[in-house]
Amino acid sequence: MCDDIRRSFGRAVFGDEVMKERLPEAVYTAIKKTMDGGRRLDPSVASEVARAMKEWALELGATHFTHWFQPLSGVTAEKHDAFLSPAPDGTPITEFSGKELFRGEPDASSFPSGGLRATFEARGYTAWDPTSYAFVKDRVLCIPTAFCSYGGEALDKKTPLLRSMEVINKQAIRVLRALGDETTAKVNVTVGAEQEFFLIRKEDFDKRRDLIYTGRTLFGAPAPKDQQLDDHYFGAFKPAVSAFMDDLNAELWALGIYAKTEHNEVAPAQHEIAPVFCRANIACDQNQLMMEIMKKVAARHGMVCLLHEKPFEGVNGSGKHNNWSLSTDTGKNLLDPGDTPQENVQFLVFLSAVVCAVDEYQDLLRASVASAGNDHRLGKSEAPPAIVSVFLGDELTGLLRAVVDGERYTPRAADVLGTGVHVLPKIPKDNTDRNRTSPFAFTGNKFEFRMVGSSDSIAGANIALNAAVADELCSIADELEGKDCSFETVSEVLRERLGKHFRIIFNGDGYGEEWIEEAGKRGLLNLPTTADAVVRMLDSKNIELFRRTGVYSEAEAESRCEIMLDNYAKKVAIEANTMVDMINHDILPSAVKYSKVLSDGAAAKKAISPRLSICMEEKLLDRLADLTDELYECSNILEESTAALRRTENAIEAAELCRDRVLSDMHRARVAADGIEKIVGREFWCYPTYGDLMHDVR
Ligand code: ADP
Ligand code: MG
Repeated sequence: MCDDIRRSFGRAVFGDEVMKERLPEAVYTAIKKTMDGGRRLDPSVASEVARAMKEWALELGATHFTHWFQPLSGVTAEKHDAFLSPAPDGTPITEFSGKELFRGEPDASSFPSGGLRATFEARGYTAWDPTSYAFVKDRVLCIPTAFCSYGGEALDKKTPLLRSMEVINKQAIRVLRALGDETTAKVNVTVGAEQEFFLIRKEDFDKRRDLIYTGRTLFGAPAPKDQQLDDHYFGAFKPAVSAFMDDLNAELWALGIYAKTEHNEVAPAQHEIAPVFCRANIACDQNQLMMEIMKKVAARHGMVCLLHEKPFEGVNGSGKHNNWSLSTDTGKNLLDPGDTPQENVQFLVFLSAVVCAVDEYQDLLRASVASAGNDHRLGKSEAPPAIVSVFLGDELTGLLRAVVDGERYTPRAADVLGTGVHVLPKIPKDNTDRNRTSPFAFTGNKFEFRMVGSSDSIAGANIALNAAVADELCSIADELEGKDCSFETVSEVLRERLGKHFRIIFNGDGYGEEWIEEAGKRGLLNLPTTADAVVRMLDSKNIELFRRTGVYSEAEAESRCEIMLDNYAKKVAIEANTMVDMINHDILPSAVKYSKVLSDGAAAKKAISPRLSICMEEKLLDRLADLTDELYECSNILEESTAALRRTENAIEAAELCRDRVLSDMHRARVAADGIEKIVGREFWCYPTYGDLMHDVR
């Protein structure tokens, strides 16, 4: 079994081994230099690579190729071209040239461009990203690509991610040189994204328009039992889930994705899967691929995989923990404290750079994870709050405090876990991993950014993080260059900036009410909704950051902001429309039918005992009448507010209208509908309940 897994791992990827085996040595070396050393690839190798790729893909049964890219719509895009073409004499031949590998020109005019293309060119271009591996999926050779306009403006999530990785490499190398490191040639961003999701039965899914149109339930009274007992978390998989996981792992492994950990999450029907970390752009590609495959495999098992951030109200939502670090081509993790962090100058510099960057660009990090779905999750006492802060643990906080105070830090003796059982080994306590409520936590040798939404691409979060840290490293390098790199000198360089940004460090309970108040006192930003957060991207300090790091031009930043706000307003509008649809076509008819049963019942009772005053049926009817009147009213109100939304052309105003009006109208409708659900008899109810949805997978 293990041998089978090993043999089939990466079977569908044009990875390192395949390239080594099938490419001429000089071509293989050139590609490796691009992948590992960041060199531009010489176009003259294109035809050799294309030939080898085609042969390999045909052997795997591929019939088509595609430039696989990540437009700003948030999903991946592919347009297939058959390898097969007619030769001049009409006979079929298989063709795939170097030119086709390097560049594609999809007629992609319907992808969102946030106004960018109107001013440039309608057409988009895709360019091969030789730093991410090609793969075969569903008989199609997929070539990871960047997607740009004619003028080179990024129309996708990958281009700025690659830019941000280049700039952080450049600045990290400057810092390393200033600290006396002459050997490191490249610094890579490493990312491991833990993915949460729900699995429900397809049969149940198909009966709910809200799930079909919006990916989340817009109505639903709480189930008698959900996550009160915490008995789902880390529990054994039910057979249907286990079968799904087996299949999923096999597919992911074939695609070279090291799916590593899997477990049940807190809410019933909620699960998590995490891969082993890799270079950020590959991690991003793999996460997109993983989400796609999860949906496909679920369908094969008669289930639906819900990636929405908050499919069910009242139970935990789903996120994506973006584990992030920097590592050198010599294999060193720059955020590894080692045994004596108090003497590790390099660690101190990189740790400080991240802490300062997160404080300086809290708004950008918050904006990078903003979406209509994630707004329902952040700050709901099961997910990080909408306030960005950094958890370091007592030890590292003490170390940075000592730098600010101009003192030398003496570490406490390492704690050992006291289990009270002699036969168990003594385990040193991991001092950094005690806090699960922080949005940005140091966890041993990496930072874990926990605010990313479960359905979102991880590109945005990593672009913001890379740019912010690169900028901080740049200004630290400016000061360090030419100085000696003793602990004292470096501390001196870091003292002022750490002092200024110390407020971002918070080791307490991030879910507590008190933190909101305390964060306010510290001057930290609290941006609860997408409408509040996204506009911050365009603050002059952020535009300046984009310009300095070259991650976005001003026009690109504006276009992204516009697309995010537009997407938010559109999603809210679709939800409101779906509510109206369900109220009128599902909920009210159910209530009317049940009312008829109740009134017939009341009439029958009265016929037998005419002097009966008010019976149970009448009491229920009375409550039902109030709630249905209210719901009918809500439906009309929702129609008015969505009409107002349609009249609003400006993206910011539309987002604000959603925040201030549409979402509260939706909430009011939900309260009424859920009240009705609690009364109406099971056989009269129009869609599967929360209890059905969360407990039907067995
Ligand atoms: P936990 O489950 O406690 O959050 P794990 O050790 O299981 O922590 O790691 C979770 C994720 O972090 C995995 O995807 C793992 O590959 C990733 N990870 C570990 N080390 C690094 C690193 N240096 N850089 C980026 N991601 C990392
Ligand atoms: Mg984690």
